[in-house]
Amino acid sequence: MPELLLEVKGLKKYFSINGGILGRKQGEVKAVDDISFSVNKGETLGIVGESGCGKSTTGRLLMRLIEASDGSIVFEDKEITKMSKSELRKVRRDIQMVFQDPYASLNPRHSIEQILEEPLIVHGIGTKEERRKQVKEMLEVVGLSSYHAKRYPHQFSGGQRQRIGIARALMTKPKLIIADEPVSALDVSIQAQVLNLMKDIQTEFQLTYIFIAHDLGVVRHISDRVGVMYLGRLIELSEGEELYDNPLHPYTKALLSAVPIPDPDVKKETILIQGDLPSPSNPPSGCAFHTRCSECMDICKTTRPKERVVNGHYVACHLYKE
Ligand code: SF4
Repeated sequence: MPELLLEVKGLKKYFSINGGILGRKQGEVKAVDDISFSVNKGETLGIVGESGCGKSTTGRLLMRLIEASDGSIVFEDKEITKMSKSELRKVRRDIQMVFQDPYASLNPRHSIEQILEEPLIVHGIGTKEERRKQVKEMLEVVGLSSYHAKRYPHQFSGGQRQRIGIARALMTKPKLIIADEPVSALDVSIQAQVLNLMKDIQTEFQLTYIFIAHDLGVVRHISDRVGVMYLGRLIELSEGEELYDNPLHPYTKALLSAVPIPDPDVKKETILIQGDLPSPSNPPSGCAFHTRCSECMDICKTTRPKERVVNGHYVACHLYKE
């Protein structure tokens, strides 16, 4: 029986747009607009969507790096949105983040030893000697060597820097890692190595992942379940392979049709998405995808589709009845 680790309900993040001489509120960007999902212990949930769909904002909301406008985030029976600063500090030991650009997230003036030791110092873990020992062990875990501890970020390749980013996230022995586009900035050959590393350490450290990416191909082999976001909304979520074999939402179908298949004999038709991504500050009425959907009906223009469970998928589209 899967054990629940994280439950998100009705999560919203609206950013105000202020303007004019008085800086009054002139509108808002609905970066995350009423999304709900859960994550079980030990699983990997992939979250996919175009840039600006709200997936990275969702990751930051879960760690409370930014405050939610509404909704609930329960991690191990504790409500994150209502925690005091000291409670939040404790829970951040259990939830860590890996960022897209490891170079930007590693202080260039600090040695790798200082970078990896920092989370332990912040959380008051171990003596100096124990911390230094753990740094060396962790470097080995991520495929680097203990002698790398004295070097600086600029002395490493992109792939090695991401390994350091992963090592830093692992230092506090977290339960959940939110990986925000962790391989997007890397060459394709290096991407596979980093993904394999993440898979290996998942078992070793009993980790749960939320893996955020813009590419459905990248999350396929690492995710147990995959959710697709569009303009701040979660429009489909299902078991990973089921989503790839039998997508329901027209947007998911279009995204998947653009993922290349490494077999020249397999022909597939690319479904073109019409038009540009609408502005999140002025999203279309009804179904947010209706301005680009080839299957749009009258109801789609006026009524936001409810999330329904269809063939084991959670899907928000008027084409489907529960
Ligand atoms: Fe297309 Fe309508 Fe479904 Fe939206 S609700 S994806 S517009 S069919």
